[in-house]
Amino acid sequence: MRAYVDKDTCISCETCVAICPDIFSMDDDGKAVAINADIAEDIKNEAIRSRDECPVSAIDIK
Ligand code: SF4
Repeated sequence: MRAYVDKDTCISCETCVAICPDIFSMDDDGKAVAINADIAEDIKNEAIRSRDECPVSAIDIK
């Protein structure tokens, strides 16, 4: 399971970073980016909550 951010949709609110900083960070362009790795079992719930709470639905997890 990995997380993906649609940078064209992201509005740089940093909610995902606040909820799950192990997966999401803010890139040099001011948009969120997800680490390019499988989501560890112990932070899956936080990653899913980030997706669910993104105000513009810019996060996909699959
Ligand atoms: S929560 Fe959504 S809009 Fe906000 S920084 Fe993360 S990806 Fe961007």
